[in-house]
Amino acid sequence: MKIVNKKISIIGAGRSGLGAAKLAKRFGAAPFVSDSGDVNKLMKSVEALKTAEIEFEIGSHSDKVYDCDLMVVSPGVSSDAEVLKTAQERKIKTISEVEFASSFCKGNIIGITGTNGKTTTTSLCGYLFNECGKKAYTAGNIGLAFSEVAADVKENEFISLEISSFQLDMIEEFKPKVGMILNITPDHMNRYDNKIENYAASKQKIYENQNADDFLILNHDSELLMNYWKKSKSKVYYFSTKSKVENGCFIENGIVKFVKSGNEKFTCKREDIFLRGDHNLQNAMAVIIAAKIFDLNNERIINALRKYQGVPHRLELVREIDGVKFINDSKATNIDSVWYALQSFDEPIFLILGGQDKGNDYSLIEPLVLEKVKKIYAIGSSAEKVFNFFHQKVKVEIKKDLEEVINMAINETRNGDVVLLSPACASFDMFNNYEHRGDVFKELVNNI
Ligand code: ADP
Repeated sequence: MKIVNKKISIIGAGRSGLGAAKLAKRFGAAPFVSDSGDVNKLMKSVEALKTAEIEFEIGSHSDKVYDCDLMVVSPGVSSDAEVLKTAQERKIKTISEVEFASSFCKGNIIGITGTNGKTTTTSLCGYLFNECGKKAYTAGNIGLAFSEVAADVKENEFISLEISSFQLDMIEEFKPKVGMILNITPDHMNRYDNKIENYAASKQKIYENQNADDFLILNHDSELLMNYWKKSKSKVYYFSTKSKVENGCFIENGIVKFVKSGNEKFTCKREDIFLRGDHNLQNAMAVIIAAKIFDLNNERIINALRKYQGVPHRLELVREIDGVKFINDSKATNIDSVWYALQSFDEPIFLILGGQDKGNDYSLIEPLVLEKVKKIYAIGSSAEKVFNFFHQKVKVEIKKDLEEVINMAINETRNGDVVLLSPACASFDMFNNYEHRGDVFKELVNNI
């Protein structure tokens, strides 16, 4: 993208906005960052913008924001924001930060989206490629903003990129070499007029611009993904934990296999994948496919799968005390991820459930709860909803906070049990975010 001497307005002063502004400046444009948020929450960005000598405004969008040749929108900005409507009325070209960054990226983009598993898979993918001797960056929602590194990725290098559906919403030309859709289950439905087809369509934008030289990796087991699937021009590989596929990854008698036109190109044992649970098996399969697309070495792939221990707050083993495992899965903010968390354990579970409810249908986890959960500790603003749904089926107790939960769990659990924080809810009723919730849990457990 030629941007020399162009005026570029960047909406949002978070990590991505900041990255985009620096990128714009590096390539000779005049960036102007505008954020309507609270200045006290953006102090870090303010300092960074000052240091980088980038013009900005915080608190509201002034008219100056429309005096530009191009508008770049950060991932956190809602597509129905007033500033975007006005820009549209004034016929200003508006693109997302992902698209902006990708136009400076010469390397191979592996774009990863889906309702759940994005961060884990993106991180595993970056890790595994590096372990296999390829230079790979990991960016997007995790760690680095895409704009921060996009221009540094060389032609034969890789970038494992986490992309949310919000970011995909605004895409016109973005084209990853490899696209992955890990799954589609209902989440953030209010943003899509509560229509699953709109949400699915947004995820599918990841392959909209791909052509026959590109690749697409899809979850064959995800019903919604398969139901709303629209044909792609790119070469498609599937992964499945339930059935054989002709091109892609599946599991047979405990052996994970990658096949191309039915021919076996890679195998490993299920146990070679360190991460627990069928969901992580799916995540690993998606990454194995990506690795085999670029013909990475089988032994090195297996080594990486054995070593990779996951991302904090996702089924993270905090500590084992007298045979009781304490697991932090604070990132489980919807029902589907709790389903997979429950499914990952054979041990009896003491489940911590509740927080800010996003319209959960608890009947979806009811069979697993009845099978595996000894007791539920209900917390947060949805504690009563959890109690009302479950109390006639399984032991439930409402607790004031995580401290009360841990104190009680220490006395109620015994050797072989699991205490699992997998709340199915957002955290904002009691915590700053899910990391904060997970950190509080970890601190309490570590202080036992
Ligand atoms: P995302 O970035 O999409 O939110 P994460 O990797 O952060 O995904 O995981 C979020 C939650 O979903 C965690 O509780 C994790 O254990 C669970 N999870 C991870 N991978 C999957 C998957 N493939 N399907 C369903 N749940 C998953």
